[in-house]
Amino acid sequence: MLVPAPFRPRAMHLARLLGRPGFHLFLTGLLMALGFTLAHILSERSGREQLSALSTERLELYASNLAAELGRHAYLPSLLAIDPTLQALVAAPGDTQRRLQAGQMLARINVRAGTHQIFVTDAQGQVLSASETLTPPARLREAMAQERSQFFAADDKTGSTDFYMLHPLRQQGRTVGVIVVRFNLAPLEATWVDMGLRTQRERILVADDQDVVIMSSEQAWKYAVLDRADPSRRAALQASARYPQDIGPDLDLPATLQAHEGTPVSLPGAPALLAQQRQILPLGLRLVALSDLGEVRRQARLAAWGGAAGGASIGLLVLYLSSRRRALRQLTQTQAELRQAHAQLEQLVDSRTAELRQTNDALKTQIAQRLQTEGELLQTSKLAVLGQMSAGLSHEVNQPLTALRALARNSIRLLENGRQDAVATNLQLMDDMVERMSQITRQLKSFARKSDERGVGSASLLDCVRAALLLLEHRSRLLHATADVEVPVGLRVRAEPNRLEQVLVNLFGNALDAMQNEAERRLVVRVLAQDGGQRALVRVQDSGAGVSDADLARLFEPFFTTKPAGEGLGLGLVISAKIVHEFGGTLRAERLEHGMSFEFDLAVDTWDATGDSQDV
Ligand code: ADP
Repeated sequence: MLVPAPFRPRAMHLARLLGRPGFHLFLTGLLMALGFTLAHILSERSGREQLSALSTERLELYASNLAAELGRHAYLPSLLAIDPTLQALVAAPGDTQRRLQAGQMLARINVRAGTHQIFVTDAQGQVLSASETLTPPARLREAMAQERSQFFAADDKTGSTDFYMLHPLRQQGRTVGVIVVRFNLAPLEATWVDMGLRTQRERILVADDQDVVIMSSEQAWKYAVLDRADPSRRAALQASARYPQDIGPDLDLPATLQAHEGTPVSLPGAPALLAQQRQILPLGLRLVALSDLGEVRRQARLAAWGGAAGGASIGLLVLYLSSRRRALRQLTQTQAELRQAHAQLEQLVDSRTAELRQTNDALKTQIAQRLQTEGELLQTSKLAVLGQMSAGLSHEVNQPLTALRALARNSIRLLENGRQDAVATNLQLMDDMVERMSQITRQLKSFARKSDERGVGSASLLDCVRAALLLLEHRSRLLHATADVEVPVGLRVRAEPNRLEQVLVNLFGNALDAMQNEAERRLVVRVLAQDGGQRALVRVQDSGAGVSDADLARLFEPFFTTKPAGEGLGLGLVISAKIVHEFGGTLRAERLEHGMSFEFDLAVDTWDATGDSQDV
């Protein structure tokens, strides 16, 4: 998505903010507080609504209960008004007989109807006849004057408020008396008290037109003023004699109590209540229901903690999701970096492989060139040795040739003289000489041949030493050099005989060169067993002039020679070392006190223990 440039820093700042753990904790706290408050408000509102609805229902029930209780005897006064006994009484109020009859009748009806008292007064309120002996309430005259059909009045003796129903007795259109039916609301009130004690959830009270509580499920509130009464009103109420005891404390309820929603109020001993009222119009009474809000508040508190837990869960979920998103982003980034690194590595490997291949090819070419050069050099070196040997060879061959000629001429003369035996001896001598010459030429031929086999096969070490010495016999004889050779007869080593011979010729030749100006000229050849007889160490020592330290380090360098020009090529030791290496061994040089020691190791093919060492 494209973000306009000025918003980009703001968006980045927001993303950074969202990524901080502190912000998430703050968010979680905020959500908890929000969840707490919201759940508390909603739960309390709904609880209050439920309680209010329940309370309204109950209020209706109490109201109809009270109305039914009051209406139960509503017919009685008007019914009694047409009774002839009472009519007769008011016609002659002074007649004792009639009073007695009327009294007896009223007593009977009182018992049957279940009322408290029934009595008849004259127009001035003087009792003419009654169901029992009684004193009429002080409010009677006031009610008669106001022509009311009912009123409440307190009874000092019982301490209760009683309900009085009035009906005028008329004769010839004139009110001559009043029938009064009194009944007690104490049983109904008792059921309310009982109910209030039982549930402690709901309290009910009835206030009269003066807002004084005349019935209550809570005895402490009885005769209390619903709102507030100033001292003058309190005195007036006290003086009205409506109430059997002193006016109680102010309940301090608000003047307008809503019937449907309810008003939260607190009263002594009940701090959290929901107040609802209902008017009972014909009686001028107010029915007030007070429901306990404690349970609603407790539920609201529980819901609030639930809301806080919900808020915390959402906060933690957001924290989890955001850290998961962050981890995923990091993972993707790391994967991309890994892929990039992998691609780079592959590229590097490819380029290195190509370089290596190139180097390898170059090396192969170099090796091939080198092999070719070495081959050529080997051949050159052999030719050099051959050149060196040619002088000695011609001497070696000339001598027998001269002898052969002499013997042949001698034999002809002996034949002429018929000396057959002497001729036979001469022929034998000639044969020996030819054999010796053919031996020399055979060695030369094998030496000059360019060998293709490399270090394979097996060679008798003693044979090779002998052959090498034979090739150099002429020179060693000239120098009067002695060869001290101790090589086991049965020792065969892993080597190609011609090339091994070439190595030995080289070493012996160098030894003779080094010894030519020395007084003692002694060549020693020894063999030592190595690796439990698996390898043989061949040691060639001379009593020559040796080399300096500086030269010792350069002995195996190609073309290093101390010999005069034309005599040395400086290749002998290089080639020898290479040949030994091809046989799996190493050629080493060491200085002796007088002379040099060269040694090399070879794998043993067979080592016949029974074969003795042999001097040559
Ligand atoms: P070249 O014999 O043609 O000189 P080599 O490689 O055989 O080549 O020998 C190199 C040099 O090592 C010789 O010139 C000589 O100085 C020295 N050298 C070799 N063997 C001996 C030896 N046994 N005693 C003293 N010096 C030796």
